[in-house]
Amino acid sequence: MSSYPSRAIQIDQNGGPEQLKLVNVTVGEPGPGEIRIRHHAVGLNFIDVYQRSGLYAMPMPLRLGMEAAGVVEAVGSGVTHLKVGDRAAYASQPPGSYCDLRVLPAKCVCKLPDAISFETGAAMMLKGLTAQYLLKRTQPQGGLQAGDFVLFHAAAGGVGLIACQWAKAMGLQLIGTAGSDAKCALAKAHGAAYVINYATEDFLTRVKEITAGRGVKAVYDSVGKDTWDKSLDCLAPFGLMASFGNASGPVAPFSPAILGPKGSLYVTRQTLFTHIATRESTQAMADDLFAVVTSGQVRIRIDQRYRLEDVQQAHRDLEARKTTGCTILTL
Ligand code: NDP
Repeated sequence: MSSYPSRAIQIDQNGGPEQLKLVNVTVGEPGPGEIRIRHHAVGLNFIDVYQRSGLYAMPMPLRLGMEAAGVVEAVGSGVTHLKVGDRAAYASQPPGSYCDLRVLPAKCVCKLPDAISFETGAAMMLKGLTAQYLLKRTQPQGGLQAGDFVLFHAAAGGVGLIACQWAKAMGLQLIGTAGSDAKCALAKAHGAAYVINYATEDFLTRVKEITAGRGVKAVYDSVGKDTWDKSLDCLAPFGLMASFGNASGPVAPFSPAILGPKGSLYVTRQTLFTHIATRESTQAMADDLFAVVTSGQVRIRIDQRYRLEDVQQAHRDLEARKTTGCTILTL
């Protein structure tokens, strides 16, 4: 069986960015249901930090990365939606996208429209599909209608800037939080109806002011520990708390009994990988994403580029809240 050389980023144990090591590996032929893809660009995501640090336990050694774009180099038996030479992009489970070349299950890989560059494809698949499932598939009872208020934390980040634009296209009034005035200005420029600098302002007070005391229909919270309690209090009766991350640390255990007096609230903890578990739903969500990107309703903003060998610095900057929009690794 042939083997092909690739560089990859691997950790042998959990820890800080210094654990990220560049290793030389070999890649084989795809098995049934798999493809081999040669990457042109790789996306960086906050989930990579959780997997590196150990917040999300993973078997070791671990090749990190869950997003990339490139050209299909080989196709295993049973794969019908991709062929050799196709431009393609993906958000993948299992991880392993920080590399030149890899074999992975074809069901998570989509053909990339000609109008979308490799860099954009690499930056947007995991983050864009996340914004898609949050805004379109994770709605409060009765759904979201034009004019409704939603609160979206970390609105100037990778997922955040996509969500700001997409929410605006849906007619929603997205209230975005971010950790500096410059980040707030960025979120506003990308479609947030209102912005709150949660480093200097009390976001609960501001949300109540903005909504004339009524609260928001949904909160999309990826910050976790630091924002959880006040986020619940931002909700209107029957509102939906959609937790989807823990950038500040995991949410402490709580009793469901608190949700009644706060207005019969709904709480859900979502992960993209349930939504993209099948090829059909992955493609349907990706088609929706490709449509808003090719129409120009959502622009994918790549604010940071690092070489693969500089991935340690990329992780440091992401964790230190120095990044905005999307970050990619170049090859
Ligand atoms: P971002 O680019 O949004 O970076 C994370 C942001 O979180 C930071 O820029 C920072 O923005 C904010 N933040 C708040 N508190 C902290 C803290 N203590 N340390 C570090 N950052 C903090 O990352 P992504 O776009 O990759 O992901 C956004 C979030 O969504 C992450 O939490 C991620 O895990 C989650 N996610 C969840 C998915 C799911 O399906 N469950 C899928 C994809 C992403 P600021 O300075 O403005 O506060």
